[in-house]
Amino acid sequence: MNRNVEKAEGMAEQPTPSTKLIARLFRNYLRPHLGAFALAVGFMTVSAAMTGAMAKLMEPIIDQVFQARDYDRLLMVAGAVFTVFLLRGLATYSHSLLMNKIGQRIVTDVQRQLYEHILKLDLAFFHSNASGALTTRFISDVAIMRTATSECLTSAFRGSLTLLFLVAVMFYQDWHLAIGAFLVFPPTAMFVARMGRKMRRVAGSTQAQLGQFAALLGQSFQGIRHVKAYGMEAHEQANAATMTETIYRLSVKGFRISALSQPVTEALSGIAIVAVILYGGMQVISGQNTPGALFSFITAFLLAYEPMKRLAKMNAQLQSGLAAAERVFAILDMEPAIRDQGGAKPLHTTDYSVTLEDVCFAYPDGTPALDGVTLRVPHGKTLAIVGSSGAGKSTIINLIPRFYDVTSGCITVGGFDIRTLHLADLRARLALVSQETALFDDTIRANIAYGKQGATAAEIDAAAFAAFADGFIRELPQGYDTVVGEQGVKLSGGQRQRIAIARAMLRNAPILLLDEATSALDNESERAVQTALRRLQQGRTTIVIAHRLSTIVDADSIAVLQQGRLIEQGTHAELLQRNGAYARLYGQQDFVQGDLTPLPIELQHVSRQGA
Ligand code: ADP
Repeated sequence: MNRNVEKAEGMAEQPTPSTKLIARLFRNYLRPHLGAFALAVGFMTVSAAMTGAMAKLMEPIIDQVFQARDYDRLLMVAGAVFTVFLLRGLATYSHSLLMNKIGQRIVTDVQRQLYEHILKLDLAFFHSNASGALTTRFISDVAIMRTATSECLTSAFRGSLTLLFLVAVMFYQDWHLAIGAFLVFPPTAMFVARMGRKMRRVAGSTQAQLGQFAALLGQSFQGIRHVKAYGMEAHEQANAATMTETIYRLSVKGFRISALSQPVTEALSGIAIVAVILYGGMQVISGQNTPGALFSFITAFLLAYEPMKRLAKMNAQLQSGLAAAERVFAILDMEPAIRDQGGAKPLHTTDYSVTLEDVCFAYPDGTPALDGVTLRVPHGKTLAIVGSSGAGKSTIINLIPRFYDVTSGCITVGGFDIRTLHLADLRARLALVSQETALFDDTIRANIAYGKQGATAAEIDAAAFAAFADGFIRELPQGYDTVVGEQGVKLSGGQRQRIAIARAMLRNAPILLLDEATSALDNESERAVQTALRRLQQGRTTIVIAHRLSTIVDADSIAVLQQGRLIEQGTHAELLQRNGAYARLYGQQDFVQGDLTPLPIELQHVSRQGA
């Protein structure tokens, strides 16, 4: 077997017992639809009873019509057969409609719940799960859950009910023969259960691989410029080919397992049928039984074959559904570490000073990022943070909105430890303007209004005006109603920045976290963005990551970080006079006329995305 298949299978952890998963599925998703489900079971019972009736009708057809040659009976039997088929058709239609509706409703419920829950999870979760893999959970895992729930329930209930009626007919016709025929059941059931366990493992691995594949696609499409620029097409292609090959092998293996139940059940039933014909035939020949009764028995046995096959196949389906449910539940069971603590207080203050007291921080993977950093930003003042790439600048910006919690030390706003405040309250006081200006696939108006729910058109216009964005927005084809973002009009770097600034203006939060753009804007754009930023900073406590020192010369204070430590702090003039690290960085930058680090801008973008 292919090595990847084994490796992928090995990744599947010890599965949760099926009963637990089924109980949870039932409790959370089926219970609300119990009424509709009961109705569906009612229709299934009718449909199953009619199948039993079909088998039973064989007896009068043979004995009373064919053998006794009774014309009156012929019409009656024909009428009965037609009624049975009609009822069975109507009942089947009704229960499949109902079950499908329940299944679709479950998909919607799970998707809504999953999304709601994922949005609450910590940033660390998003850093450790590729977006493509998460998308797979929403689309494919949830769909598998749907199929499993609606189809398995149908197979289980309708199948068992049908079997029940058919078995009743068999016992009614000849209980000796019935017991004999049922000896084939225990081995079949054992075999099916074994296959089910295997199927669950394979299905789980297939889904996990699909997730990884989706992640790979997402990453390579997003970074397509880099893929092309570095000539990595063949490399990505090889990665994708390995994954698709693994998925292929796993899928084939899964199908082989589920298909295997067919020849096995078929062979076992063949043996039983032969036994029935031999023994039953002898009884008819010796006059102990009528041909009609034997025929009715054989019909019931043959009809039982279909629901039995469905029940056998159902296990495979159920197992892949359970594997999907397990993966979805795994996310639903994750508790965000960052949330309101018991006794969290609302933030009542007019003092929006921010301090870091002896803050140490390491990322969940253990990467140390900050080491004993103490910084004070008085209310309304600006602190600029400089330092080479990886020094810990973005980490500080991540800690203030509590995207992560400090490992030791504390961060306060207005003198309150931020961990003791309502998270929503804290975040409502912050506005974040970062390098990767996230524009959503919506109109410019909606993108600006993202900063404040329910903002009026006048407020939006005013914010755009203050951010020097009004001018270029009005020149766009549909002005404020132009669609931007992933699918929309392409905006220049400077224009995107100004929309982000307008968004922050509108939010009007007292604390501003700024991650200045590294990408060189053209001079005019640059000036507009800088003026807009300066206006945004007025009266707000601002922490800004500066990539170009020219933009922060008049910051109230400048902190220089190096490998997670604060090595210098002061105003531009003080630091220059000190002639230390800052003065060196400043001199360097004058020389390279660009970023602090001599990395090409494109590469910085890559390393940042990777972080
Ligand atoms: P800067 O913003 O100054 O370039 P960062 O604050 O991004 O630096 O990074 C500080 C350190 O933390 C670096 O060693 C970086 O590799 C690491 N780091 C940043 N983000 C993460 C993350 N999500 N997971 C693990 N390590 C990270």
